[in-house]
Amino acid sequence: MKDKEVAKIIPKTPLEDWIARKIGLKEGELTREAIESYQLAQLRKTIDWVKNKSSFYRQKLGHIEPEAITDFSVFSKLPFTWPQDVQNNPQRLVCTGQGDIARIVTLRSSGTTGQPKRIFFTQADQELTIDFFDYGMRNLVGPQDRVMILLPWKQPGSVGDLLKQGLKRLGAGAIPFGPVSDAGEAIQCALETKASSLVGIPTHVLAMARSKKGKLLKDRIKSVLLSTDHVPHSICQVLEDTWGCKVFNHYGMTEMGLGGGVQCAALAGYHLREADLYFEIIDPESGQVLKEGETGEVVFTTLTRVGMPLIRYRTGDLSRFIPAQCPCGTVLRSMEIVKGRLAGRIKVQEHSFSMAELDEVIFLFDGVVDYGVIIGNNSGLDCLYVDLKTSEDNTVRLDEDFKDRVCRALRSIPAVQQAFPQREQILISNFGKKVPFSTGTAKRIIIDNRDN
Ligand SMILES: [Zn+2]
Repeated sequence: MKDKEVAKIIPKTPLEDWIARKIGLKEGELTREAIESYQLAQLRKTIDWVKNKSSFYRQKLGHIEPEAITDFSVFSKLPFTWPQDVQNNPQRLVCTGQGDIARIVTLRSSGTTGQPKRIFFTQADQELTIDFFDYGMRNLVGPQDRVMILLPWKQPGSVGDLLKQGLKRLGAGAIPFGPVSDAGEAIQCALETKASSLVGIPTHVLAMARSKKGKLLKDRIKSVLLSTDHVPHSICQVLEDTWGCKVFNHYGMTEMGLGGGVQCAALAGYHLREADLYFEIIDPESGQVLKEGETGEVVFTTLTRVGMPLIRYRTGDLSRFIPAQCPCGTVLRSMEIVKGRLAGRIKVQEHSFSMAELDEVIFLFDGVVDYGVIIGNNSGLDCLYVDLKTSEDNTVRLDEDFKDRVCRALRSIPAVQQAFPQREQILISNFGKKVPFSTGTAKRIIIDNRDN
């Protein structure tokens, strides 16, 4: 009985009817079988296209006949495309002439080694992203809403610019602002423009909620969409408590064409952009596709991209498909919220942990808006340095007692407790400058200085 009541309240994700129309069906007609037969046909088309147009894939897939891809198990034997392949010689993956390329996105890696990745898009590729933003945003906003965009937007074709265009199409107001460097200024803008929804980077939106004027947005902000490599649950909780809003997670990366999937009103897993992307979950060691519901690395293949299609691209993100049906009742797949990246795990004395795990305890502390972490050595002992950044107008006293509580919270993570068994191995500071903070859209990582 209770399940039925929930199903009545939660509307089906707007992505379902959008995908139905995209694959030539009417609203309400989408089935798993229809999606899968469409995806197989698109996989064959894409393989045919890249074999003919890209020297990289000609070499890699030259022996594959597209007609032989009759089911997904055959497809899953194809070789992977690695981030390094894109890094080393992106031009070899491009399938069109330079004249057809409308935008090139340069992605700098978080480490110091390696050249940046360059991803190429045609105008048609960009159009696919705008269309996804249009329908993806309908999960949380409608024509009555005014949406503040806290992402880079000034360059034509940038993520914020495409989002702005998508919002216009669905009839909502778009307020381009950019990444938040001054929380007070962002709040002022939200108040003046009567924003009812925010789209931004988790720590940036957290800084707004935790600044002195943040409470003024209570009951004004109805929904927030957070997007980065992983969204800490702790931050969602703080935003919900402060503003009384719903917080949605978006999953995407530039290589996917920015958008990959978005949560529906049930706030369970992301529903995926299945007409444009085919997702697999694989064992990162063996490369084998895992059973439905098992956690592994997310791998995707583009189904509709022209400029730089990617076949079985290794994302490095960890997640799983949720086998149970979403309470919204869609036939689309749900992928569990990404909890972090393979490369983001740090090993100390056989005990491994990630920034994502630290986030879940640190962001629950009042006043904290960001932090940096360094692992280093001190007199032969491994040490964890955590430098906290608090909001400028924060009233919380970061005294010894506060630091002690942060330290105890970190020790509640078993791997951290085991890696740093002595109290003096964990050092908490609040200079807010010892370690670089995420000021833009760069990924937040643990810095390992042990060999230096
Ligand atoms: Zn749903």
